[in-house]
Amino acid sequence: MLLKVSPPKQLGIRLQLASSFMIRLLYYCDVKGIQPKQFTKKQFLIDHPELKACVFANKTATTFKNRINDFWDACKAKKERKTVILALCVDNFFMMGPKGKTQIANFSFQSYQLNIPQYSLDLLKTLFTRFYNDFFNYEENGSNLRWHFKEEYKLENPDNFYLCPACLGELNLDKAQLDHYFPKSTHLALVIHPNNLIPLCISCNSTTGGGKGDKIPTNPAIPTQANRIGCLEDAYLPYESYGLGRVKMLVGGTPGKRMAQLTTMKAADRTPLLNHAETYDLNRVWTSRLHNANTTLIHRLVDAFRHTFETDGKLDSAAIAHFLQHSIIQGAEYKSSKIENYFILANYTVWILGEPNAWITLIDELQKRLEEEKKLNFKQKQPYFLGDPEP
Ligand SMILES: [Zn+2]
Repeated sequence: MLLKVSPPKQLGIRLQLASSFMIRLLYYCDVKGIQPKQFTKKQFLIDHPELKACVFANKTATTFKNRINDFWDACKAKKERKTVILALCVDNFFMMGPKGKTQIANFSFQSYQLNIPQYSLDLLKTLFTRFYNDFFNYEENGSNLRWHFKEEYKLENPDNFYLCPACLGELNLDKAQLDHYFPKSTHLALVIHPNNLIPLCISCNSTTGGGKGDKIPTNPAIPTQANRIGCLEDAYLPYESYGLGRVKMLVGGTPGKRMAQLTTMKAADRTPLLNHAETYDLNRVWTSRLHNANTTLIHRLVDAFRHTFETDGKLDSAAIAHFLQHSIIQGAEYKSSKIENYFILANYTVWILGEPNAWITLIDELQKRLEEEKKLNFKQKQPYFLGDPEP
């Protein structure tokens, strides 16, 4: 992600347990040759006392039987079941544990493009989506666990829970979707994995309009390369690696048709950055926000220079540049906030300060706005006579 955020702690542990529950259940039935009809929840929990605390343990025996049935329907041959279970174990375990540079350099997902028939894969996708819903639709104290996830996320990230970690835009947590960083349709092992779930804004999570959809962040442009060994080096894994502080936004294009482009300061960040931009279509998203950045900037300048303009009748370019540098770029005006909270605005301002034509346009626009305001104020201050049209 671009933004540094922490995962929900308690819910993270519960998700971890649920992930483990899911895999153990399938393994248990496969190894013991337990057919769905023969399964008894009581015995399973006696054999796995550590799983009793899991949300899944509260599900009915019928739900268990249905999930096991789904698995056996998807993978009729023992060999297939074994392949799937082993892949789930490897991927889940890897994502859970601490990852050193060497481990990351040697890893690729086993559950990605499993060597089983397509109809098996389709059924497995349905099964794992059911596990996902079993977990997040589970109600506790009047709210489901999706809600609890977001509440805990808020507590863990008090300074930036209102920002989308992928695009740095505004995030309304109540409406936010929990994004599967590695899509649940391609990475079955990570369907309820705590490190794979992160709340994103609607624009980043949507499947339409160039949003993320099922793109795989390790190489969204060339999916055949998305799971090569060492692919995790090419992505900003949620809660683990961050682009912010190493990236900036450039502005290009022509007047009236400006375009934003994400860029990096160091060559080593290039691949993860390009993949991130491609995954969330960031250049398009940020381009669409430039107009807003310009409007905000003008508003702030009008507020800051209204008084001096009214008194002196002119604008002081040096004072404006100083204001932009200190209040917008360095964020001195917002002591409690960090510069990254204003990423687009700050980067846009940096561009204006370095681009003579953009600077002239900004000053012209500001002057026009202040003159209009002055005229309006003057009219409002004129005495009003009976019979005149109302001002
Ligand atoms: Zn976003």
